[in-house]
Amino acid sequence: MNRIDINKFDFPLNSAYPFQIIAGPCSAESEEQVLATACALKEQGISMFRASLWKPRTRPGGFEGVGDVGIPWLQKVKSETGMHVCTEVATAKHIELMLNSGFNTFWIGARTTSSPFAISEIAEALQGKDVNILIKNPINPDLELWDGAILRLLQAGVQNLAVIHRGFSTYGKGIYRNEPLWQIPIELKRRYPSLSIIGDPSHICGKRDLIERVARTALLLDFDGLIIESHINPKEAWSDASQQLTPSALGLMLRSLKKPQELESTTSELDYWRSEIDQVDELILQKLAERMEISRKIGAYKNSHQLCILQANRYRSLMKHLLLRAKTLGLDEAFIEDLFRLIHEQSVEIQQNEL
Ligand code: PEP
Ligand code: MN
Repeated sequence: MNRIDINKFDFPLNSAYPFQIIAGPCSAESEEQVLATACALKEQGISMFRASLWKPRTRPGGFEGVGDVGIPWLQKVKSETGMHVCTEVATAKHIELMLNSGFNTFWIGARTTSSPFAISEIAEALQGKDVNILIKNPINPDLELWDGAILRLLQAGVQNLAVIHRGFSTYGKGIYRNEPLWQIPIELKRRYPSLSIIGDPSHICGKRDLIERVARTALLLDFDGLIIESHINPKEAWSDASQQLTPSALGLMLRSLKKPQELESTTSELDYWRSEIDQVDELILQKLAERMEISRKIGAYKNSHQLCILQANRYRSLMKHLLLRAKTLGLDEAFIEDLFRLIHEQSVEIQQNEL
């Protein structure tokens, strides 16, 4: 397919940092919370503010956002701090309300990007409007859905477009709330070399402590900036409490992040591969834990049916199969034999404990 490139995102305000930064609470909760957070972020040199009025929740019962009640609070942030305000839109109604209230910078959430119907509705509502749009990646690791949303908005005539990498939902629990799967934004960048990418370490990590490292990796990969959740009192936040930073903690972190240009490209590549290795190691550990849990169940079964733990035939056929697979995958057979001997010994030990 012939693709056109997309121009760099034209940020409405200059950043005081060597990269772009958008910050603010996950959700607007009250006028006081929104204004206190915005003022404290401004003191940290941040000029783009984020806050959601409508929250798409995975399950019913959670806080679904204050809705249009919060629009005047965001207008106050604009008039009292001079910050540029962006918010999430998911429907034509949200867009109409926000445009009529004097806002023109919106992001499209991960759940919305996952739905071509929703994206078509949004594209239609944006047709011919002067807007700045940031498209989050879809929840599932599907590059074509992300690219499809970009194409739909380009076709609607949106000129100022960027994307946000917020990680992907995968089966099983790792250290991250959403796996970064860095190869997906990298492939998107290969398709559109000038496209601006904003990293969202808050939604990737889900936990405050992990944010700095993921933010650094995003900048090392030459992302244009970061969107980070910040709340005046994170522990009391009505949504995403464990991933929000206070404005001063955020400022401290941002000042410690270097300009990508100051780093050697070898460091950047190494850091990327290391983060890939960390993810694979995490999966190996999870799978080992799963395997041992199954062994424990088999042990309990063997015990209740008075079967012998060590079944030599089963072990021999299992190893034969593994060595064949190892060969196909280009893995050293002696290494795989050693590795699975150890795993098997551990399983036998676990089963003995079930006796
Ligand atoms: C958010 O930015 O608060 C949000 C809901 O994010 P996402 O769409 O990435 O889950
Ligand atoms: Mn959030």
